[in-house]
Amino acid sequence: MAQAFDSATREALVARVRFYRELGLTEFYRRPVDETVRAQLEAWQELPMNVGAPPSSLPSAEGVGDNDPQITSSQQFEMPQEDQPIPPRKPLFAPPAIPPTIPTSDRAAALQMIREDIGDCTRCALHKGRNKLVFGDGNPAARLMFVGEGPGADEDAQGIPFVGKAGQLLNNMITAMGLKREEVYIANVVKCRPPGNRTPEPDEGNTCSPFLFRQIDVVRPQVLVALGATAATYLLGQRQPLAGLRGRVHAFRGMQLIVTYHPAYLLRDPRQKKEAWADLQIAMRELGLKPPAKA
Ligand code: URA
Repeated sequence: MAQAFDSATREALVARVRFYRELGLTEFYRRPVDETVRAQLEAWQELPMNVGAPPSSLPSAEGVGDNDPQITSSQQFEMPQEDQPIPPRKPLFAPPAIPPTIPTSDRAAALQMIREDIGDCTRCALHKGRNKLVFGDGNPAARLMFVGEGPGADEDAQGIPFVGKAGQLLNNMITAMGLKREEVYIANVVKCRPPGNRTPEPDEGNTCSPFLFRQIDVVRPQVLVALGATAATYLLGQRQPLAGLRGRVHAFRGMQLIVTYHPAYLLRDPRQKKEAWADLQIAMRELGLKPPAKA
């Protein structure tokens, strides 16, 4: 929107433009006002406790809409730090109360009941692209459970979690811990494949994750490993950068939760495998496991 200047500002501008012309500068343009920057500055100025100049993280009053083409709003504002919580876009599902422990001998049947409750699910839009629903796999009384994000193409075709390339890497990680895949339990936040393997939308994750919580409460592993940010977000109930969650044990529903990188991410950036192995060693320490002797 065009802005009217008072006469003093107008005269000063005319004098400045004439001066530039005399220097041989004849091309002028005005950068559009960054409305986000303006709104933030105005909001800050309206706070009763803020007297005086705005903090340096905000642009100066003169900075708003001025003509320095090099400075962009992303340079004027600090980007979120790795350890700052990211506010969820939509509220996450509130975890249910922790039910009593189910005897080991009844856990397979209890998981089967959850599977039957899910049924031929149409609760969210993900069912539309589904070939097979991917419920979970492994030992119903496992001491160690892994939670991924959602099925990919291979899992959707076979109805079993982590059977594609990322699954092969997960199998290697399990073997490196001195365990067999059949000894652990594996499930995902969502049970149907998101189109193009995109991250589940909040309504999809919120609709499906109560079933994951029920699976976890039945298996009741000693240690739960969240593979990647989506699993960590739905388990912990808050969006936070992975870097701030890795490398330690979180208390989770009477279990120990460890957060690490998703195997698909490790396939893209194998340099992070060292970090993931450090996380798995924390899980091994909690479980009293020693890595198998090298052949
Ligand atoms: N990625 C996941 O998060 N889960 C799977 O089951 C497969 C790939």
